[in-house]
Amino acid sequence: MTQRFALIIDPVHADEERADYADSFTVVDATAPALSVGELSTQRGDGVFESIGVINGHAQEVIAHLERLANSAHLCDLPVPHQEQWRQAVAVAAAECSPGEAVIKLILSRGVEHGPTPTAWVTAAPASDFSRVRGEGVRVVTLDRGYDLDVAERAPWLLLGAKTLSYAVNMAALREARRRGADDAIFLSTDGFVLEAPTASLILRFGDRFVTPAPAGGILHGTTQLSVYEYLSGRGFETGYDRIPATDLPSADAAWLVSSLRLAAPITAIDAHPIPTVPALTSDLNHYLLSPRD
Ligand code: PLP
Repeated sequence: MTQRFALIIDPVHADEERADYADSFTVVDATAPALSVGELSTQRGDGVFESIGVINGHAQEVIAHLERLANSAHLCDLPVPHQEQWRQAVAVAAAECSPGEAVIKLILSRGVEHGPTPTAWVTAAPASDFSRVRGEGVRVVTLDRGYDLDVAERAPWLLLGAKTLSYAVNMAALREARRRGADDAIFLSTDGFVLEAPTASLILRFGDRFVTPAPAGGILHGTTQLSVYEYLSGRGFETGYDRIPATDLPSADAAWLVSSLRLAAPITAIDAHPIPTVPALTSDLNHYLLSPRD
């Protein structure tokens, strides 16, 4: 995937009010170097980010992503991004996206070492093709995340509810899943509860009830999971947030990994135990997730 568009945001103060923030954006050559070697995002992964799905030029759930970016920034003691300024930056990037599926990334880093301000930028590029995982599904393995369910509250400096740039652990978990012959992973807490996937939320179906692990357990609250719940509630299904013991996984009537770019990928097996799939519902979910959502 090649970067097609990038702009640097000159962050303004959180309570600044103006109608147009265009003069705080600098469009740069997306294929040329743009960051200083002193950047703490690259040196330490010290920053936060968001990935927004774009469908035919429409950026999905922008405000939900900006709210989560603000929450991540708050958890990391970074200046909270100015929502309207970033919304306008997303609109500029979305206008550059070709028809089809694309991805807009928002990055807010602590900036250059010893520098005065954070560094902030937005990129847009074509998205990978996720049609196979949406259709055929994914086999997952469970992996110990090494923390118990209450660690987020006990040790907030682990930043577990923030979407930080430090994704090396998540990528290592995906490689381990592949080594074990699976496509993806589900993290478990050391006390035996289900958490999330390295880059997606998990939704399980038991009868006509859909459950996802409660975000209080140190996981990211997924924007796609929230959209899926809105859709399912509209169809009369019960939805909820629970502490889900890993021992419940084999009895799920269906399960999905959901995230902003892949959308809903049905899980076909967990630790080699087959999980039933419901292709018609998965197709309805993806149809809904591909429709314009604000
Ligand atoms: N959990 C983690 C760890 C993620 O990285 C992601 C997305 O990248 C998600 C959940 C799903 O979030 P969203 O649906 O907002 O993309």
